[in-house]
Formats: sequence, C-alpha cells, structure tokens
Amino acid sequence: MTAISAVPIVPVEIAEPWLLILLSPATRVLAFAWGALWGSFSNVVIHRVPLGESVVWPASRCPQCRSAIKPYDNVPIFSYLWLRGKCRQCGTSVPLRYVTVELLAGVMSFALYMQHVYVPLLEGDAPRVAAWLLWFTFGLSLLAITYIDLDYWIIPDGIVLPLCGVGLLLAGLRPEILNLRLAEALGAAVAGYALFAGIRWLYLRMRGIEALGLGDAKLLLMVGAFTGPVGLVWTIGAGALQGLLVSVPLLRAGKRVANQELRDVHGDDPELGEDDPDRVMGQRVPFGPFLALAAIEFVFARRFIETWVYGFVGG
Ligand SMILES: [Zn+2]
Repeated sequence: MTAISAVPIVPVEIAEPWLLILLSPATRVLAFAWGALWGSFSNVVIHRVPLGESVVWPASRCPQCRSAIKPYDNVPIFSYLWLRGKCRQCGTSVPLRYVTVELLAGVMSFALYMQHVYVPLLEGDAPRVAAWLLWFTFGLSLLAITYIDLDYWIIPDGIVLPLCGVGLLLAGLRPEILNLRLAEALGAAVAGYALFAGIRWLYLRMRGIEALGLGDAKLLLMVGAFTGPVGLVWTIGAGALQGLLVSVPLLRAGKRVANQELRDVHGDDPELGEDDPDRVMGQRVPFGPFLALAAIEFVFARRFIETWVYGFVGG
C-alpha cells in the first residue's frame, strides 16, 4: 500500500516572465489582498445568507443609520483602520469581527499561496495555482460557516451543497488538483453525512431528541468531498477534541460559545430536549465551528496528518 494516494503531477516548463511574477514579493502581497477582499465579501455572506437576503444587492449599509457605505470606506482592513472602527456618518462602532474575518481570509490566501505556488516553485516543481484558489474557496467557506453557526446555529445549504458538488466534480475530472480520487471523495462525503445523520436519526427515534444538527452532517458532506477519508476522520476527531478544549474553559468562566442561545434562534423545539447528549457541562455548544477549524487545519497540515495516519494504520 502506498503511503499517500498520490496522483502523479507532471512537471511543466514555466515561462520566465511568469516565474518572475509568481515569485515576486508584490504577488505575495496581492495574494493577501485577494484573500482580504473575499473576506470582506464573506462578511456580507455571514450577515445576509442566514436572513435569506441577496449577497450582491443592495450595497452595504450601516446597520444603525442605514447610510450606504461608500466604496472608499469599504476597503478591507484599511477602512476599518482609518475610520477607527466607526461609521463615517453616525459614529456607531463597527464590530471587530469584520476586520477579523478580512484578516483571517487574507492570511489564509497568503499561506495557501506560499504552500501551493511559491514553495513548489522554489523546489523546482510546477506551481499549483488552481489548488491555491480552490483550497482558499474551501477555507473561506469554512470561515463563513463558522460565524454563521456561532450566530444562528445553522449551516446553510447554499454554501455546503455547491462546495460538495465542486469537490466531487474535481475529484472526477481533475483528481490531480486536490490530489483526491473520485472514489475517495465520494466515499468520504457519503460516510461523513451518513455517520452524523445516522446518529441524529437514532437519537430522534429512540429518545425523540436531536443529538446532532443535520447541518453538521451536511458540513461533513462538503469536507469529505474536498479532503477524502483521512481529512474526514481528522475533522471529526480533532473537531470533537478541540470543541471540548475550547468550550470547557469558556463555560467554566461563565461565557457562552455561541453568540445566541439556540432557543432564542430556533424557538422551543421539543426535539431540542434538555437532556440531549451533545452538551458540554450542561450547555449546548455548536459543533460546526470546531469541525470547520479542524478541516482548515487539515488543509494546511495535510502532508503530516496523512503520513501520520497511514503510518498508524500500517502503511
Ligand atoms: Zn452609521
């Protein structure tokens, strides 16, 4: 058994101007800016998708005074700094989250550029521009899902289902880009969904309560389609462990993990019983953000995690 399911990548000759462009410091700055720009768009997605609003229209407005935000006040990160985190019209504070999401998305795009384009070039391999953009799309979606789940306890189909489709399509047509074959992507997607949906179904049937949200099952559908079996196992295992490591100290300190109580968002659903099993210290904790965090870890540390896991199962 081979250690890693490698689809051979044929080294390609790359024209000198492209080589210079891809290796220039300006391109690394642009990779960050590209991420920050999409981070800015993610803020719109996080704010509007759970409310069922369009993400392209109308233009952004201040939630307090409803004045339209001018393009020059809508530059990722910088606008926040030069407006000192306040609306230009009414002076209401802009939540720190906006700039946090932009920064995280920028860092993610930059780091993935280094991983898939810059470092391979230095090592004499072909740059993987498509891999950079696709893993960034995956990571950005996980970032949006994290905040939406923290706010609203939902994981939107509008994000996870298209991403799952993209992952499966890639595995079927161009498996070398994400280094994942169709059988692995499809198997992991189905297994992830079936596991969580199965546990949920069992609990609903036996005890009439919802142990896990169907959104978490759909999130695993997307994660499986992009990362395959090892990514799926890592996401569930590391996600659960980190969920405990983060939420126990938070709850002990009297803080909440989610931004709102589940009951306040979804009402008094009898299926959300008081004695459901997924509670940490008696409190419900959203699982989505921790699954998303673990999946992002896998994107960056895939080589180590795969080597470790395959070594473990006797590669
Ligand atoms: Zn305002």
